[in-house]
Amino acid sequence: MGRLGRGSISNKKSLTTKVTKDFTKYHKGKNQRFFAEGSQIPPIFVILKTIRMSEENINGRAETKPPVSFIEQFIIDDLKEGKNGGRIHTRFPPEPNGYLHIGHAKAICLDFGMAQKYGGKCNLRFDDTNPVKEEVEYIDSIKEDIRWLGFDWENREYYASDYFGKLYDFAVDLIKRGLAYVDDQPADIISSQKGTPSQPGIESPFRNRSVPESLDLFERMNEGEFDEGSRVLRAKVDMTSPNMQMRDPIIYRIIKSAHHRTGETWKVYPMYDFAHGQSDYFEGVTHSLCTLEFEVHRPLYDWLIDQLKTDEYRPRQIEFNRLNLTYTMMSKRKLLELVQEGKVSGWDDPRMPTLCGLRRRGYTPESIRKFVDLIGYTKVEAINDVSLLEHAVREDLNTRAPRVFAVLNPLKVIITNYPEGKIENVKLINNPEDESMGIREIPFSGEVFIEQDDFMENPSHKFFRLAPGTEVRLKGAYIVKCTGYKKDETGNIIEIHCTYDPATKSGGSGSEKKVKGTLHWVSAGHAVDAEVRLYDRLFNHEDPAGQKDEDYRNFLNPDSLKILKGCKVEPSLANIKPLDKFQFQRLGYFCTDYDSTREHPVFNRTVSLKDTWAKINK
Ligand code: ATP
Ligand code: MG
Repeated sequence: MGRLGRGSISNKKSLTTKVTKDFTKYHKGKNQRFFAEGSQIPPIFVILKTIRMSEENINGRAETKPPVSFIEQFIIDDLKEGKNGGRIHTRFPPEPNGYLHIGHAKAICLDFGMAQKYGGKCNLRFDDTNPVKEEVEYIDSIKEDIRWLGFDWENREYYASDYFGKLYDFAVDLIKRGLAYVDDQPADIISSQKGTPSQPGIESPFRNRSVPESLDLFERMNEGEFDEGSRVLRAKVDMTSPNMQMRDPIIYRIIKSAHHRTGETWKVYPMYDFAHGQSDYFEGVTHSLCTLEFEVHRPLYDWLIDQLKTDEYRPRQIEFNRLNLTYTMMSKRKLLELVQEGKVSGWDDPRMPTLCGLRRRGYTPESIRKFVDLIGYTKVEAINDVSLLEHAVREDLNTRAPRVFAVLNPLKVIITNYPEGKIENVKLINNPEDESMGIREIPFSGEVFIEQDDFMENPSHKFFRLAPGTEVRLKGAYIVKCTGYKKDETGNIIEIHCTYDPATKSGGSGSEKKVKGTLHWVSAGHAVDAEVRLYDRLFNHEDPAGQKDEDYRNFLNPDSLKILKGCKVEPSLANIKPLDKFQFQRLGYFCTDYDSTREHPVFNRTVSLKDTWAKINK
């Protein structure tokens, strides 16, 4: 068995698979940041480090899965109490200003997952309250990605902009009730009057202007009479509240850009806080699940619902921790920068943490859902180790990806005693994890390619692959012995000579002979030329976007993409389509890229068979 460098050809599961130990607090010097629940305390990130776990541990963990998440417990309790008529209704509210990433998958799995599990519904609602940043391209991609993950909003595709009329009326109603006012001060003055957590804010001189005056000004704001930034509508709540969000928050601002759905109808647009909870209410949402940064907004959410509600029904906001992953970043703004600056080939570059990027990389929806399930939902901000995501996709592809032979850096082997012109078909198992995937036949001949690094001219004593005088098995075929090799004028080895032993054919009577190394190979006359793109982590820093004094671009991994041309793959790979997934034996999991054609197959490496970074980082 080859021991240096790559995985064993036997398909035994690795006993050293890495998984994250939940909530292992790992303090890492300057990375120490923490989000205390709802407080204004500066954040520390808890990095969830990997630990070594055996396969048995992982299985054991699945069997003794912790009880339901705190969110699910709230849902169970609300159902028990018969709240909201026993209904469960959630929503997933993306802002269409970028592509969805793996962090969104965490929210999607919860929003849709809880509705599914408890016989409820989940709406897809585009939070399109900002006409400036939003694009139709994003809306289409978001829908595609949610469907791909395996969820369905049926006919409930909504837009916050559907409610602009109702929201405007609600704002007018608040003014009439003395609960909102137009403030003529610019944004910087308003924010300078906000106070600090320990100091109350200062009331605006416009706070007590008359209702008719505010009504008139608000109407004229919407008619386009005033410049952007010259006036805002504020809720009149409490400038002395210990919660800064309650200090007369801005609920409407003037924006004079056309909106992708409502065109020129509106010149005033609601702020997120004024649109979100109300949209939940209009749609009959019962559980509004969002990330922790909204925890401090909850009193305002509730205050606004109090003003709006007419009966017992009320939506409830519950917050959970965002997903952060090591060696990447989740900010849509920064991901957009990578795309715009050409640091990646697009939103679906296989190195991106976007769902379309992961899809192109070869991730399956099942592996992403499994990963999300493993990390769970808590109230503690943390960074999860990307190794756990890689573990999830390995596990998933292990069961579904057919094994094939591909030689990435080919070196020709000539079997000198093999009858000239002879070709025989050898049988190989497609997936030892799944008998139903059957067997395939591939051609064997007197000239095959093996990997360059499966041969060593001067082997170390632990090298069990091919070397002068040694024997290896060509998987599924014969044992061969190296009798010589040829170099070019610059000293590169260009050809290996071997003899084979006909009695050692796999499955035959002499096949029990043992050798230490087994190699994959491809028959030279039958090999299909292919391009292989070896992807690695996009960043070489655990938290590239979290370094105060350094730009995340400085941490781009220069080796995150290596393109290999002239690779040799077995002929069964001639008829493939994009996103087909394979295990290239001993190398890793690969999938067919969108750029692939019949004449020019292209494969992306999804993940290697083992976690190589774990070693490097030790
Ligand atoms: P922005 O920075 O543009 O506000 P966002 O990441 O919050 O971006 P949204 O489109 O507003 O993006 O997110 C939609 C939903 O997905 C929200 O409910 C949000 O809480 C959730 N979400 C976003 N990022 C993550 C993440 N990293 N982990 C878990 N949930 C997330
Ligand atoms: Mg957001």
